[in-house]
Amino acid sequence: MSQSYRMMIGGQSVASAKLFDVLNPADLSVVGACPQGSAADVEAAVTAAAAAFPVWAATADAERVHLCNAIADNIEAHADELARLLTAEQGKPLNGLGSRFEIGGAVAWTRATAGLGLPIETLQDDATGRIELQRKPIGVVASITPWNWPVMIACWHIIPAIRVGNTVVIKPSEFTPLSTIRLVELINDVLPPGVVNVITGYGDVGGALTAHPTVRKIVFTGSTATGQKVMAAASGKVARVTLELGGNDAGIVLPDADPQAIAEGLFWGAFINGGQTCAALKRLYVHSTLYDAVCNALVAYARTIPVGRGDDESSVLGPVQNAAQFNKLRAMVDEAVQAGARVLIGGKPMEGPGYFYPTTIVADAHEGMRLVDEEQFGPALPIIRYDDVEEVINRTNASEFGLGGSVWSNDKAIAREIANRMECGSVWINRHGAIQPNAPFGGVKSSGIGCNFGTDGLKEFTTIQTVFC
Ligand code: NDP
Repeated sequence: MSQSYRMMIGGQSVASAKLFDVLNPADLSVVGACPQGSAADVEAAVTAAAAAFPVWAATADAERVHLCNAIADNIEAHADELARLLTAEQGKPLNGLGSRFEIGGAVAWTRATAGLGLPIETLQDDATGRIELQRKPIGVVASITPWNWPVMIACWHIIPAIRVGNTVVIKPSEFTPLSTIRLVELINDVLPPGVVNVITGYGDVGGALTAHPTVRKIVFTGSTATGQKVMAAASGKVARVTLELGGNDAGIVLPDADPQAIAEGLFWGAFINGGQTCAALKRLYVHSTLYDAVCNALVAYARTIPVGRGDDESSVLGPVQNAAQFNKLRAMVDEAVQAGARVLIGGKPMEGPGYFYPTTIVADAHEGMRLVDEEQFGPALPIIRYDDVEEVINRTNASEFGLGGSVWSNDKAIAREIANRMECGSVWINRHGAIQPNAPFGGVKSSGIGCNFGTDGLKEFTTIQTVFC
């Protein structure tokens, strides 16, 4: 019999009459039974967060820093347990850039965010008067997280929110809720009751949470379609939002790049977490003079990366997380092949009960294929040929998304100039998708509103008060 998990509301472990099974994507076995929360649970969690808010908001800044660091210590002390649970429900390998890496990232981000601060700014101090700008916590924050990096993204939402004095109710994805429940339990070992609460269930629970009148701020990571619903829920009460939504990041390989030197960076830019990463490289534009050389170098590197069960220490990439994603990816690759694309490696689902799809590299891809035009969110990279650098900038920008982009070249100055013209929130030269806690990360166009990380990210969890002294 699988373990039953409980929600955490007001510092209390809360069971639910209804449970649903969380499945391991490697073999569809049951990892655990998750509470199917109700409207009453949403109400209880928001009430607990609202009750905890005044005391937490008034807690000394240094004490909040201390407690955020204590959270990092507690996550670190339970890193192995968390990584194994994450691998079981998400599928990603323990090894490589998998679960241990994700838990390590959660710890690092928590510590880095603890170290940030928003001191009062003096805007003017002269004979005519003194003006100060201070930042205040907003109140109850609703956090809605996806299934691709559940623990790390939960920390990206929760830690900056509480660092500046807000309280939080988090609702994780129904596909990967168990590691978040455990994370919130560990956080509650350290914090006063009600500061961080977790409720679980399907999208209706997230909908009720975001629409709750007491929730004054929503931080969401997920699809653009759901992000639009979150924004609609926020608009009714003029609540604040930070939305980190889908992407369809392009990379441009310039004619002077060295295919052998860039192959590894291109591979991990595209295939980190099996491509299930918002800012993964999802369309690669390669100049025709080195098109074949880049394709060959990428395929050669891909052959060295084993795909398998996450709990097998020899696996470096794991299965696709869920059936919908698996079927979407499969259909997109099949359609591209029917439209003339050439599979260089992979291209057909692997055998087994789980959602295993091999690392897939598709040449002769072009716009008009869903694999190029839409966010495929899986281990498939379409490679598109181009001849004219000016024209390719327009082609990469002709997307509703604008999360990340990259330029690959031996000439940093030229790469920098082209990078500057890409319409996206982050741009990288000779790498793709690298993020760090001191660098704001957010999208333009349909990829989102606002940003996470750094002091800019911290400000998203505050309101301003301008004081004319
Ligand atoms: P969703 O955007 O549907 O889910 C993200 C989160 O939103 C989940 O916790 C989900 O809960 C919750 N949710 C669903 N409906 C509502 C609602 N009405 N109000 C509030 N919260 C809600 O992503 P999917 O899992 O369906 O993935 C679909 C696509 O999204 C992927 O193919 C990919 O393209 C993109 N995606 C992007 C991510 C990113 O990092 N930017 C991450 C994940 C997906 P529940 O799961 O319980 O329904």
